[in-house]
Amino acid sequence: MSRRIPAKSRSLQPRRLLSPQFISRPFSTVQDVVPGSSTGPPQAPTPQRTSVLQDALQSTAPRTNWTKEEISEIYNTPLMELSYAAATLHRRFHSPAAIQLCTLINIKTGGCSEDCSYCAQSSRHNTGLKATKMVNVETVLAAARTAKENGSSRFCMGAAWRDMRGRKTNLRNITEMVKGVRALGMEACVTLGMIDAAQAKELKQAGLTAYNHNVDTSREHYPSVITTRSYDERLATIENVREAGINVCTGGILGLGEKAKDHVGLIHTVATLPKHPESFPVNALVPIKGTPLGESKAISFDAIVRTIATARMVLPATIIRLAAGRNTMTEEKQMMCFFSGANAVFTGEKMLTTACNGWEEDKAMFDRWGLRPMESHETLQGQEEMKESIPPVVEQKEQALASAP
Ligand code: SF4
Repeated sequence: MSRRIPAKSRSLQPRRLLSPQFISRPFSTVQDVVPGSSTGPPQAPTPQRTSVLQDALQSTAPRTNWTKEEISEIYNTPLMELSYAAATLHRRFHSPAAIQLCTLINIKTGGCSEDCSYCAQSSRHNTGLKATKMVNVETVLAAARTAKENGSSRFCMGAAWRDMRGRKTNLRNITEMVKGVRALGMEACVTLGMIDAAQAKELKQAGLTAYNHNVDTSREHYPSVITTRSYDERLATIENVREAGINVCTGGILGLGEKAKDHVGLIHTVATLPKHPESFPVNALVPIKGTPLGESKAISFDAIVRTIATARMVLPATIIRLAAGRNTMTEEKQMMCFFSGANAVFTGEKMLTTACNGWEEDKAMFDRWGLRPMESHETLQGQEEMKESIPPVVEQKEQALASAP
């Protein structure tokens, strides 16, 4: 005998769950699955149906033929969409939980002959900063040991010089520092201004992991910031570094009075180098009294996130370094940067002449959010391994196109 359920209580019966295949995702235009990989026959993507963002999202290897228009299209995607896409692509090339900790020490402060309008160390600006001689090797190595004990896997050494001409003894001491840092099992990076091919070779022989030389901003905006050396001179140093077999660290500073198109231009410069830089630092200007940019308005946070997320889409295998200005961000803002593709920070006591988030503070923050310091072996080697294990999305896309009617 079947029992009739009264109409009133029928609505209280558990509703049949919809089969997952009927669930569509009308709330997002970001395509995070391979077309045709879920249900039904494969759909061939066509130029009309895909966007630059979707194509970038499916990339399995860095490409160096980006146009400014393509980067601009990505940059101008609604920010939540852009961040979500960046977070998705980030997971293909990097572990989202691992953040590289780097510590930066100034090995020679102030007295620089360049006129970079944001910099406290230029002798042309009246910032009250006292120029010093170069720090000795043992002091630097003691700082590197402290950094290592606190979880940093990369140690960066900066000197306020225009270039390395006539600095043979200094360069010899720096090679000793590099050897000492490498002997600790850490990555060693230096930033010493412009270097020629022979100097790059000497640093490579000492075991240098990376050389930092920022292009700072777009080619178009650059002359408003620095007049004492050209954009092309900067690129020449980057080429010398690359030719010597040293990894390249080059990025920019946001908040130099530039426009959004200059963020696109900055990313375009590094994305169209013969090989992408292994590291792309994103700095937010920390205005310093006495410099021409000392009274500048802070860059908006959404512009920082947009730049990081765009860089992640365009430079998928690169480590994106959240650099100067991080200590002015709340924890939530930092997390938004990590979510959008940043995966390295400077941590320690100081960052050249500006304040830095301390190790203890960073450790506590990482614990709260399930992050961990990246190990040295995870960085470049890890990226190579991850690239090899990536499913051949591009091949699938090509096959789908070939079999399309
Ligand atoms: S070259 Fe470096 S140290 Fe010299 S003024 Fe420019 S940013 Fe400062």
